[in-house]
Amino acid sequence: MRVQLEAVTDELRRLRATGVEQVYVSDETLAHLRKVTARHQVEAGPPSEEFPSVREEMAAPAPERKQVSRATSAGVAGGGGLRWDGQPIAPLPEPPAVELPKGSKAEQMAWLRERVLNCPVCREHIRPTGQIVFGVGSSEAEIFFCGEGPGADEERQGEPFVGPAGQLLTRIIQAMGLAREQVYIGNIMKWRPEMPTEWGNREPTLAEVEFSLPYLRAQLAIVQPKVIVALGKTAVNGLLGHDPARRMGAVRGRWHEFAGIPLMPTFHPSYLLRNPAMSAKRQVWEDMLLVMERVGMPVSEKQRGFFQGAK
Ligand code: URA
Repeated sequence: MRVQLEAVTDELRRLRATGVEQVYVSDETLAHLRKVTARHQVEAGPPSEEFPSVREEMAAPAPERKQVSRATSAGVAGGGGLRWDGQPIAPLPEPPAVELPKGSKAEQMAWLRERVLNCPVCREHIRPTGQIVFGVGSSEAEIFFCGEGPGADEERQGEPFVGPAGQLLTRIIQAMGLAREQVYIGNIMKWRPEMPTEWGNREPTLAEVEFSLPYLRAQLAIVQPKVIVALGKTAVNGLLGHDPARRMGAVRGRWHEFAGIPLMPTFHPSYLLRNPAMSAKRQVWEDMLLVMERVGMPVSEKQRGFFQGAK
């Protein structure tokens, strides 16, 4: 079922990218969709008693907030959307050439951070109250979590993954037996893809991803993690190459590679917050167990059994 729904979502995104703003859906189709999604939720069942702290929190709904659908951002794929001030988004220049200076990892990271925070293109794309979001964590980390780009919370605080999805990511990291400070957390995009509204996010355009990638490559070159965890389809497409036919369900749980580093794709935490089914949460946890094994972390029986019995 999920595969079909993802296919429908992708088709809607594709249509939006070609400029289609409205699609006709018959009442009959809507009724059918409601029936199957309701059935799917019932089938997913209530969470089991095991793994209460993380399982329940992973299942908890995101806090109430004003929602603006991703579909409201106009002309996304072509980069022809609107800025926060209603002005058209200007085309991006060539991606930056980043040559790291010699020095320790900490020195290199400090240099890169300054470079990104002073990047004129990044600066041009943030709203006056917003911040460029560089990345946080340890330059010595073995695991590098890579997301798509900052949302409103991240833009405001200047730190990746601090909103509801970020809080869930933090709990997943903790369930792995780690603290946020022991891993590295970054995004493909260093600025929040512009929206004409305060709330709501949109996917970055291909040009935005292309422009931002050298900064991410430089972060990876400094950290030299043992594993990259690519969170969600935009991160996966950004790192493995854009493929509109790629399905997260088909690529997660298997090892891939970026810049010679093993890469594990998994579902984005915001997808888990939106998706009531326990199966997606279990799959993310299975992916994290693979990551722990790959970096040589011990996996306890309790950790292994967190989702035992969950559908
Ligand atoms: N989603 C992302 O992909 N990155 C963030 O920093 C926050 C939400």
